[in-house]
Amino acid sequence: MTRAVIAFGANLGDREATIASATRAIAETEGITLVAVSPVYETPAIKDSGVDHEAPGYLNGVVVVETSLEPHALLDLLQAVEASHGRVRSEHWGDRTLDLDLIDMAGVRVADERLVLPHPRAWERAFVLQPWLDVDPSAELTGRGSVAGLRAEARDEVVRR
Ligand code: ATP
Ligand code: CA
Ligand code: CA
Repeated sequence: MTRAVIAFGANLGDREATIASATRAIAETEGITLVAVSPVYETPAIKDSGVDHEAPGYLNGVVVVETSLEPHALLDLLQAVEASHGRVRSEHWGDRTLDLDLIDMAGVRVADERLVLPHPRAWERAFVLQPWLDVDPSAELTGRGSVAGLRAEARDEVVRR
């Protein structure tokens, strides 16, 4: 079993309901055991041009799981859960009902067209680091050091719900 950290984000539709349902779908999958679900944070949308206060805000958080799935199989699951919650892929960083990113799998490194692990932008994202820290104060991001230290350096604002 490998410990995996999954980040969720939702900024369209009934965000709480989507997150609850997606968490349940992940937890009920064979080969996955839910370890922790973080508090939820409200964060502004970020587009290619920067923070977009006109766009609906996000609810963000993380779930920690133990899994026997290989990294690509876990990504397949996350993309299936996104699709079953109405995710439509359009503009880069566009609004979405559900985004599920695989952040880290206990030291595993992957870099191919479908999957990069650890997630290449997680280290600078307070909306990932803060909820991860909440559920695991001693967490380490593969290759980047302690999540607590990274969180202290991250500048963006997150507001706990
Ligand atoms: P960001 O990755 O900056 O958070 P995003 O979540 O909006 O952006 P998406 O449009 O959801 O990006 O995903 C684009 C592609 O990223 C997906 O098709 C997927 O194959 C790929 N990808 C690569 N590494 C990962 C990862 N660690 N977790 C999730 N998707 C990944
Ligand atoms: Ca994302
Ligand atoms: Ca994504």
